[in-house]
Amino acid sequence: MRRPAPRLLEWSAVPAPRRAHPPAHRTKANPVSESPSTPDAPVIDEASIGAAVDAALAAIAAATTTADLKAVRIAHTGDAALLSRANRAIKDLPKDQKAAAGKLVGQGKGRVQKELAARQQVLAAAEEEAALAAETVDVTLPTDRRPRGAAHPLTTLQDRIEDFFVGIGWEIAEGPEIESEWMNFDALNADPEHPSRSLQDTLYVAPEGSGMLLRTQTSPVQIRAMLERGAPLYVACPGTVFRADEIDATHSPVFHQVEGLAIDKGLTMAHLVGTLDALAAHLFGGAPITRLRPNHFPFTEPSAEMDFRCFRCDARLGLDHDADPACRVCGGTGWIEMGGCGMVHPNVLRAAGVDPEEYQGFAFGLGIERILMLRNSVADMRDMVEGDVRFSQHYGTEI
Ligand SMILES: [Zn+2]
Repeated sequence: MRRPAPRLLEWSAVPAPRRAHPPAHRTKANPVSESPSTPDAPVIDEASIGAAVDAALAAIAAATTTADLKAVRIAHTGDAALLSRANRAIKDLPKDQKAAAGKLVGQGKGRVQKELAARQQVLAAAEEEAALAAETVDVTLPTDRRPRGAAHPLTTLQDRIEDFFVGIGWEIAEGPEIESEWMNFDALNADPEHPSRSLQDTLYVAPEGSGMLLRTQTSPVQIRAMLERGAPLYVACPGTVFRADEIDATHSPVFHQVEGLAIDKGLTMAHLVGTLDALAAHLFGGAPITRLRPNHFPFTEPSAEMDFRCFRCDARLGLDHDADPACRVCGGTGWIEMGGCGMVHPNVLRAAGVDPEEYQGFAFGLGIERILMLRNSVADMRDMVEGDVRFSQHYGTEI
């Protein structure tokens, strides 16, 4: 591409700018308008004042909105307008000319003001009428009576639980709902005869012996996270799980869990309890007190059942306050059973490719339905799965 030759001398070729309009020539023929103390004083005679008034009246007539008219008012009666400048110049006129000039300018200004006021009234009335017409509501129109949907309360609660984990720096992990038996049981250290593998408990995918099932827990997501990400690892795994249960007030074949898994160097049960305390406070408020009771799970060692301090009765105030014997949330015990937890079994770490000599981990799992039932006083689990929009609207519209 050719570039234009440089024109280095261009600066010197540009002539100095000249004034487009030389200063106005002041004529001695109009001594009335001239005064050394008011250099911008306009000519005050019938012709110039008449022309200014005519221009103002024409502009007023041409204004079609009150906003237009405001601009006209500023242009023709504002400080810089000819009529205003003429008015200011009167005081500097010779005495014998002041009266005539005052009358001329005063009458002109009066006409303009009067027209402005009249036009303002007309335009404002028209605008008000237009606004009223635009805002008219036809009360005879039928309303839209279709009820609005809402997020399901379980979804809203799951979001809140995820918020908690994201807030403490954990990641949210998801996995498939159709899972291999190995992921769901073997990798989690469940022996081949473990009762939870039976057809009475677990929904297997046909054909028989396919080795595939509907996951009975979200724990396989923990295995997948360890295999994919390695240690250290901090993940929460919320999701839908399936059991071969009949639906009743407290059971459902489809429900939701959230599990937490932390893998790092030097983790202990104290870290587990601290995390659960914070989660309890986030979900229920009240005193963040977690109690662990020894239990057995194949995938953790040691294992424990976790109880949260009741958030409803006096028990929430601390261990030195007794529970209300009639409390429907804790049954008068002061404690709410929340789920299982423990330190991740070394066999589980090995199955997921993590060296148990180097890393330790803790894990826990809670049922989201159970949290919703406790937190929002939902008495019957069937209400959650029937799909009645009134249930969602009642619990699901929290902000
Ligand atoms: Zn209670």
